[in-house]
Amino acid sequence: MQSEFDFIKQIRDQAAKASAPDLILGIGDDAAVLREREGRETLVTVDLLVEEIDFKLEYAPPRRLGHKALAVSLSDIAAMGAAPSFSLLTLGIPKQFQVSNPESRIFFDEFFAGYFELAEEYSVTLIGGDISSTPDRMTIDSIVIGRCRAGKAVRRDGAKIGDSIYLTGEIGASAAGLRLLLDGARVNRNEDSLTQSALRAHLKPEPRVAFGGRIGARGLAHSMIDLSDGLAQDLAHICEESGVAAVVDFDSIPMADEVGLISTEPEAAFEFAINGGEDFELLLTANRNDEDGLFEAAAACDLRFSRIGEIIPANQGRPELLLRRGGEVKPLSICGFDHFPPSPDLTRAAACPKLPLQRSHIGAKFDR
Ligand code: ADP
Ligand code: MG
Repeated sequence: MQSEFDFIKQIRDQAAKASAPDLILGIGDDAAVLREREGRETLVTVDLLVEEIDFKLEYAPPRRLGHKALAVSLSDIAAMGAAPSFSLLTLGIPKQFQVSNPESRIFFDEFFAGYFELAEEYSVTLIGGDISSTPDRMTIDSIVIGRCRAGKAVRRDGAKIGDSIYLTGEIGASAAGLRLLLDGARVNRNEDSLTQSALRAHLKPEPRVAFGGRIGARGLAHSMIDLSDGLAQDLAHICEESGVAAVVDFDSIPMADEVGLISTEPEAAFEFAINGGEDFELLLTANRNDEDGLFEAAAACDLRFSRIGEIIPANQGRPELLLRRGGEVKPLSICGFDHFPPSPDLTRAAACPKLPLQRSHIGAKFDR
């Protein structure tokens, strides 16, 4: 690879193609300078991707990795009902990439092609970052800055009793893709199959930027979150923050066809889909009277949209999740991803016996 300064210059040249009205000074100085706007608020989010924990180079094509590094942070801004405007990117590059070998060059050309393609799609301007070397594994730290009208950010703590619960898209394809990758499946761009679409869902997720921004601007949701830990876990986050409980309808959950690659047995497929991570769909609660506006917004963004349940009072202060199937209502077990589970793996395995390993984190632990 070239020197650090050549490398930064190359990033800077690509970033300079974007122009943003609120950017006073971008890459090249000690800090970037942004213009404030009356009546607006600024949102900041960061995501850390660590090689072998959050992704593996053996299966993640660099172009898709560049896309995903930005996508996960764009998704957070969308989940706040805001519009993304700027990004920063910090890379920890392993020593073996530092040598002047053409392969590292190709790797980063591809990585930035994926990153900037997505940045351009949503008019996001890269305004800075940092680079250092690491002894062994690559780290990618992705920051996105967004804007919304003052007081309009859609939080996790706004769910109200009686709200309906809604979800964009379908769930489970990303977890299916990860499972297949860990089992040895690889990206093949010439192949058009359900397996390839599962791999794409995991490696190249599409953040719901347009929909999230629209919902925020129109004030249609009481609470919102993006699905990173799994539907069950992320809905539990809304319930906890809002001090409420939720009941979800088994038959209303929009399961991705890709889940059928993992299990065709309905209960196991359902468990897999609601606990599988990294769908990056948006989960929100809203007044049922606003439902038409929500469906219109989803249609305008070309997104499937489903009502999946409702918010109910917490049971003696416990923000539990319930599952309704036929006439029966019972507690829903949560096995979503946790980086630091109280008792690693064993409790999860006991609670979720049928659950395959899901997120890259878990796969990494088991592969070592
Ligand atoms: P400093 O030593 O002050 O941290 P650097 O030489 O690291 O400065 O960075 C110079 C400029 O390049 C800064 O504006 C910084 O934000 C930008 N920069 C460095 N690394 C990256 C990167 N990975 N992506 C985008 N911009 C970067
Ligand atoms: Mg620096």
